Amino acid sequence: MSLYPIFVDLRGRPVLVVGGGQVAARKVERLLVAGAKVRLVAPAQCNELLQRQARGEIEVLATAFTPEALHNQILVVAATSDLAVNRAVAAAAAARGMLVNVVDDPQLSSFQVPAVIDRGPLQIAISSGGSAPVLSRLLRARLETVLPPALGKLAAVLERCRGAVVALLPDVNQRRRWYERVLDSVGRVAQTAAPDIADRTLLEDATRFAHSAPARGHVSLVGAGSGDPDLLTLGGLRALQSADVILHDRLVGAGVIDLARRDALRIAVGKCAGGESIAQDRIHELMLEHARAGRHVVRLKGGDPFVFGRGGEELEFLVQHGIDFSVVPGVTAALACAAYAGIPLTHRDHAQSVRFLTAHCADSIDTLDWAALADDRQTLAIYMGVAGLGRLRERLLAHGRKPETPLAIVENGSRPDQRVVIGNLNHIVELSRDLAIKSPALLIIGEVTTLAQRLHWFGAAPITRDTRRQPNRHCEEANDAAIQ
Ligand code: SAH
Repeated sequence: MSLYPIFVDLRGRPVLVVGGGQVAARKVERLLVAGAKVRLVAPAQCNELLQRQARGEIEVLATAFTPEALHNQILVVAATSDLAVNRAVAAAAAARGMLVNVVDDPQLSSFQVPAVIDRGPLQIAISSGGSAPVLSRLLRARLETVLPPALGKLAAVLERCRGAVVALLPDVNQRRRWYERVLDSVGRVAQTAAPDIADRTLLEDATRFAHSAPARGHVSLVGAGSGDPDLLTLGGLRALQSADVILHDRLVGAGVIDLARRDALRIAVGKCAGGESIAQDRIHELMLEHARAGRHVVRLKGGDPFVFGRGGEELEFLVQHGIDFSVVPGVTAALACAAYAGIPLTHRDHAQSVRFLTAHCADSIDTLDWAALADDRQTLAIYMGVAGLGRLRERLLAHGRKPETPLAIVENGSRPDQRVVIGNLNHIVELSRDLAIKSPALLIIGEVTTLAQRLHWFGAAPITRDTRRQPNRHCEEANDAAIQ
């Protein structure tokens, strides 16, 4: 069944609702929001309906339904649990050529009420043509999370400024191009700014566009999370869906990039320690070039852009060049790896603090305060530390951390091929070498790592010195593969 979608102006128009229960009350509520003049017919009414009657919001005929109730009405909604009554309403409406909706009964209905996502004046209606109402409802729940609550505010700004925009941009094609380009940036302003500022921003932008001044680009610095696309934030998803250009790092999972707008230009600018890379200067140039051309650039980084991600440097560069930007945080590797390995980073019995540090080359290792790092009862989450495990172990032992200090290496944290290796300072270098641990891998040092044995839930069970030789029953294949 292919339905014809319409939005009806019901202000001041008479609509009949048949039924006196909760379902009828819900229907009445929406009809009143739309400004309809509601008449209700039912032998008995629930409290909510009685209160509405007492407040004079609806007219109530406290009788059973008869076709006369349809007199002068333009629409009718049957919301009773009695199939015979619903049938009688549908038949009477059909006899008069009136449109009728019978709640949850597409066969008896000549119009259906869609699932609605309500954003102020903006409404998005979903219908499956009666084939799968549950699907429509699920889809609505999904869209609810994707569409910003401030969309209504944006629609209100556009409504208020519509006349002025038409005057500034009289040509409809020019106007369409401007709307396409501006929606996102004004959407952001509408979310945070007072209405007059949002209006002014919109009209200033339209004026600039009318005089063909160069469009204002924008860079969103977005954290993609550590691999699993579920870790992307809603803000990150929105940025990706409005991007013209995406500059992404190597560590960003393909599943995340798949969520981006289809026609966005994707440029891999991945850097890997010691491998092929695009120089940081080139990344700066690309951001500048595209932003200056008025595009929305998403600079997409693994984890969080401000945690060992050079996000700060990139923003300093943008400030120097007067480019607008915003930042969307992401779930950094320490948090993701810990969560997906079942390692609480702090724990009342084991660690009262956690430090994020990096130790990927000899220089950065020597700038660390090893005496403080050797303290017990704290967790260390070490980024890019696996290549320098030997040096790390040496420094920690030299400053008094015990050789039995437990630790974990999480390789490909939160991805389907995640491996978690558990050991202690003493033998971890050999274990990591034997298992050929590769980047990206995060090292977690501290008592809390022992909990992974009991709290692991994702992917293969942790590999230990023992299970390495005697595969764990949970993950025989994975461990075999790891050892070979
Ligand atoms: N900005 C990123 C970190 C970039 S530095 C963030 O916030 O996560 C790169 C290092 O992060 C890697 O060498 C590794 O130590 C760690 N890392 C990133 N993603 C990882 C993952 N999925 N699993 C394990 N470690 C990861």
